[in-house]
Amino acid sequence: MSLEKTESLVLRTVDWSETSRISTLWTKKFGKIRALAKGGRRLKSSFENALDLLTHCSIVLLRKTSGSLDLLTEAQVLHGFSGLRKDLNALHASYYLAELLSEWTEDYDPNPVIFEQALLALATWSDLGDGKVCAGREERQGRIAAVLFRFEFILLLELGFRPELKMCTGCSGEVDEFQNVFSPAGGGVKCRTCSLADRTSFKISSESLQVLISLEGVSMENLQIIPLQIRKELRKIFGRYITYLMGRRPKLLTYLEAGCI
Ligand SMILES: [Zn+2]
Repeated sequence: MSLEKTESLVLRTVDWSETSRISTLWTKKFGKIRALAKGGRRLKSSFENALDLLTHCSIVLLRKTSGSLDLLTEAQVLHGFSGLRKDLNALHASYYLAELLSEWTEDYDPNPVIFEQALLALATWSDLGDGKVCAGREERQGRIAAVLFRFEFILLLELGFRPELKMCTGCSGEVDEFQNVFSPAGGGVKCRTCSLADRTSFKISSESLQVLISLEGVSMENLQIIPLQIRKELRKIFGRYITYLMGRRPKLLTYLEAGCI
């Protein structure tokens, strides 16, 4: 057993006994872990609000070696992201982020890029919810969506599922500029011929494809607002691709679709 200090993001917390809770945390040092917080259910516990969903905290862990759960001995809030609760789209986007990290990443597989980008996305959504960035409802919705698409793109890259967006994933040939097709099973675009036998494939507009290509190189801070029609298409592309890769449809997708983000 060893004591370890790291930063973490709370993805999920369930009650375990009369007084304890088990938290799923995405930590900077160890990736996703599950840890037992003894006394975590007491009103005046030493964890205060540090185990609330999507809280960024500094923690101390007692690492167990024999397959049993790590023990959380300390947790202090660094950022509560309170603005997330003030905008429904921001809240849904952040719950979706938590769902992807919780359900789609392996335990003990650290990734500093994912950790840093998740915090950046949550901070941006929280600021939008708080009204810190001057934005009307439409603009806010467009910004929330752009940050979410960028995060999904980064997650795909980091998990080894970079979508191929230039040449056909079936035959490596050129794709028709005016008849773009995306294939979740192929992991990217397909030419018309190859897409015929692929039941997962669907048509996408060249405008959406261009925005998708641009998402790879842009930083979160420099994202442009994406028009509504393209957002709907990108949601379909990311939603279907991630559903295919995860083997099930993320629960929060329905809410994202309803909010056009
Ligand atoms: Zn082809």
